[in-house]
Amino acid sequence: MTRFPELPQYSELAECDGLTEWLPQLADSLSEFLRFAHPDAIKNQVQWQNQLDIPLPSEGVGIGEVVGELCRWVIPNGSQIPNPASSAFITTGATTAGVLAGLACSVASPQRIGLTAFHYLEELSLNWLAALFGLSGFKGIYSSGGSVANLLALGAARQQAYEQLGCDPALSGLNRPGRIYASAECHHSVQRAAAVLGLGRSSVIKIATDSQGRMRPQALLGRLLADQGNEAVPVAIVANAGSTNHGAIDPLRDIGQIARQFGLWFHVDGAYGLPGILDPSYSAMFDGLEMADSVVVDPHKWLGAPVGVGATLVRDRSLLYRAFTQEAADYLEGASFDQAHSSMASLGVPYFDYGVELSAPPRGAVVWALLREVGRQGIQTRVCRHNQMAKDIAALAERHPELELLMPPSLSICCFRYVSDAVEDLNGLNRQIHQRMLERGKAMPSTTMVNGKLAIRPCFVGARSHQQHAMELAEEVLVVGRHCVSQRTAG
Ligand SMILES: *Cc1c(COP(=O)(O)O)cnc(C)c1O
Repeated sequence: MTRFPELPQYSELAECDGLTEWLPQLADSLSEFLRFAHPDAIKNQVQWQNQLDIPLPSEGVGIGEVVGELCRWVIPNGSQIPNPASSAFITTGATTAGVLAGLACSVASPQRIGLTAFHYLEELSLNWLAALFGLSGFKGIYSSGGSVANLLALGAARQQAYEQLGCDPALSGLNRPGRIYASAECHHSVQRAAAVLGLGRSSVIKIATDSQGRMRPQALLGRLLADQGNEAVPVAIVANAGSTNHGAIDPLRDIGQIARQFGLWFHVDGAYGLPGILDPSYSAMFDGLEMADSVVVDPHKWLGAPVGVGATLVRDRSLLYRAFTQEAADYLEGASFDQAHSSMASLGVPYFDYGVELSAPPRGAVVWALLREVGRQGIQTRVCRHNQMAKDIAALAERHPELELLMPPSLSICCFRYVSDAVEDLNGLNRQIHQRMLERGKAMPSTTMVNGKLAIRPCFVGARSHQQHAMELAEEVLVVGRHCVSQRTAG
């Protein structure tokens, strides 16, 4: 039966099917993981590292052993991020529909190109996202996350700004320096985008924010007026719809009007906070969003997608095309025919020309699954619940003598701290409380600074996080806080 007897038998032993056999074992292990009864990965680090640390294997062990090692050593020592007790990072554990859709992508559609149902869901779900956030007529593209999503949006902005001066920056580079005007609270991916786009990180002008971290339109206006006549090309204004630090929503209409007045691209970074528009108690604060030229949202944050899904939505996708199109390539040019009689005979919507990836998973299938499963109402319920959790902690912090609210909560972020008359260095105390909390693992928030004060900062975005987790977190701050204070005063 062997047609090439000179080839050794073990030349190719990779299992290419067998999902029915292997998935149940993996699923059991993952379900066990999701009970979060296992110790934190760092507790057994020596043990699992010893097991995994082998030189490059010359011979394989076969799929069974790989699945066994995954279940024994890797999965149980995974991340705390999906744990509902974790409110540190804005990325979340994926919900099941997204996990399953992601698996379906990797098996049945390893690329987003081609006239397949997966490719179809790419555009459909981008349109759904635009509808969800009231951005009618916006078209989009998926990328790996908010950082790349911001890069793509600012690439379109750069294109427009330099084209107006008769220069194609994507083709010829920049003939003049440029400037991006962003909230002082903007995500640092905005600066990196400026670096990648040839503008340089220092081209990002930070505009002052108010005591709640919102960009001050007067400061923006003042800076733009002062910069008139400057050699640097004004490229874009970047506002936050939910800042990473404090959840601040910038006054979008005021900023949008200034952008119009100066003929500037208006970019809104809603990587984290855009779904907040669905909460009736916040939706008015998103007034003016529709004035944006580009908006980003991260489905792998509040929408619960597996990590690796960001979305850029733009008013005019042809600018993305001119910003990111590639030189013609023989291996692609012949791949599209007007009349396709095979899913392989057309590349479909040229997403590879709207962004920086050629090969990419069809992430739209994941977003479709999430939205199809729970609908607009399901997302809205989740967002409202998380926002309420931040408000609950704030209310407690305001009335509890051992807690101090450092900033009114915005969206699902609440910045507060533990206070004690017996301790002078409250920043040091709260840093210690935070460290201790991470060690104990009962509630794992992050920290940030609020006007020079170290804040305990939970950000609730996980679909598994419910009301009780907010109260458990506040309780844990009190328990750990008291313990730290008694240690300090005893010593
Ligand atoms: C998280 C975040 C980003 C970056 O997104 P990644 O998916 O982590 O690359 C950008 N902007 C804001 C406001 C964010 O919260």
